[in-house]
Amino acid sequence: MPRRGLVLVVSAPSGAGKTTLCRHLLQEVRDITFSVSCTTRPPRPGERDGVDYYFVSPEEFQQMIARGEFLEWAQVHGNFYGTPKRQVLESLKQGRDILLDIDVQGAAQVQEVLGQDAVLVFVLPPSLEELERRLRKRNTEDELTIRRRLDQAQGEIAQAPKFDYLVLNDKFKEALQELKSILFAERQRTFRRQDLLAKFS
Ligand code: 5GP
Repeated sequence: MPRRGLVLVVSAPSGAGKTTLCRHLLQEVRDITFSVSCTTRPPRPGERDGVDYYFVSPEEFQQMIARGEFLEWAQVHGNFYGTPKRQVLESLKQGRDILLDIDVQGAAQVQEVLGQDAVLVFVLPPSLEELERRLRKRNTEDELTIRRRLDQAQGEIAQAPKFDYLVLNDKFKEALQELKSILFAERQRTFRRQDLLAKFS
């Protein structure tokens, strides 16, 4: 009997450093895979289909919704994003862990569907001023987009109380350490380690 797997859901306002944190977690921790989402937004330079996202047309996305292929889906910044069900359910069944880098709407849906199999982490920026500074430094968005993302950030942060854990991304190394600690502790929850108890029964 394997240990029970978990779904680590990481959400944050854009610019909080979530993607970098997730990338490092995946590089440094064994036995956790990344759930590749579907999106209707065009690829950014360097992004690979099937690795960063599955890039699909709006029509394909709607068909996937109709076929019930998503664990959750949401419209974010004008595009559709969704987590394919199959990879996540397969991981759980095999006692493996999977990381979902998704928005707050998606996180709420995953919690609803998966209950205690989902662990929700919200990454906070040090302040809204710092978030704005980071968004500008990234230099990938125009002024209107930056303003929109900042407005949206406040709405997203308002959802933070619903999450299981908060990670403040002020000093990157500390934030990464905290994220790893959450994963390591959650892996040892008694209900996930019935495999250990079984050895002694
Ligand atoms: P980006 O376009 O910058 O890669 O992502 C924009 C936002 O969409 C981020 O907050 C990201 O976490 C979120 N996102 C990515 N994939 C999914 C998904 O499958 N479902 C949901 N609900 N959000 C997603």
